[in-house]
Amino acid sequence: MSLAVRGTDIHLPVIAVRGAHPGKTLLVSAGVHGDEYEGVQAIFDVIAALNPATMHGSLLAVPVANPPAFWNISRTSPLDDGNLARVFPGDPNGSPTQAIAYAFDQHLLGLADFYIDLHSAGVKWLMPTLIGYHEADQQAAPAAEAFGAPVIWKHPHIAPGRTVSAANDRRIPSLYAEARGSGRIHPDDLHVYRRGLHRLLTHLGITPGDLPRLPNPIRLTGDGNIDKGAAATQRGFLTPRVELLQSVNTGDLLGTLHDLWGREIERFLAPCPGVVVLIHACPLVHPGEPLFLLTERIA
Ligand SMILES: [Zn+2]
Repeated sequence: MSLAVRGTDIHLPVIAVRGAHPGKTLLVSAGVHGDEYEGVQAIFDVIAALNPATMHGSLLAVPVANPPAFWNISRTSPLDDGNLARVFPGDPNGSPTQAIAYAFDQHLLGLADFYIDLHSAGVKWLMPTLIGYHEADQQAAPAAEAFGAPVIWKHPHIAPGRTVSAANDRRIPSLYAEARGSGRIHPDDLHVYRRGLHRLLTHLGITPGDLPRLPNPIRLTGDGNIDKGAAATQRGFLTPRVELLQSVNTGDLLGTLHDLWGREIERFLAPCPGVVVLIHACPLVHPGEPLFLLTERIA
């Protein structure tokens, strides 16, 4: 089925798998940013594997939450340059991206007992494969453990405008996930997302099964707002000098920016100690784009 977004010709793809028995509803979305594909494939694969006869509750899925951005291979919408993860809870009379947020918030989010939003680093960035949650969301912490990503990121704050902040406003517990991105689907990331969704369904009592113990994850804490990452002041060719999850100290070199003759035109230094959780993996950089983000590792 699909959800028509009022005032636009956009239709959101919605897939409902209703179990034979009553229970909770897990809402899952992917493609909030149009260039993130791991979650889309994971949703397709998990839905194909479910057996409604044994389910207590439902899975409600929106595999591509921002179709205009998806068809444009872009993070933001080509219709209004809107970032769907910055405009929640949306506006029915606003731009197309605001209208999508409103439709999602009004017609889908309220149906959920638990919500998970599957992101990734998109075509330009690189991020560790991780599950993230808001520290104050008490049901999120055990659900994040159940999901079983190699990295767990606990945030003291969630900035407004996100799908997960809208869920928080509705008192619906939520998680989000990130993966390596780069416009491809790494098989290991797809495995983590698929396994994570199946484990989350089991954790919520929707599907039968047990949750085998997984290796201890790397634990991070801190702000996850990539809009606040170190940004270039000019365009150029970026050479990162760090790797994902590398520990750095204040003043360590994160990367250098070059002109098209190879001359260094800018250097990016760590503003504080931390671990690298985001790298602008595409060498072409525009002014203002986040290049690196650091956060804190929990020992
Ligand atoms: Zn995203």
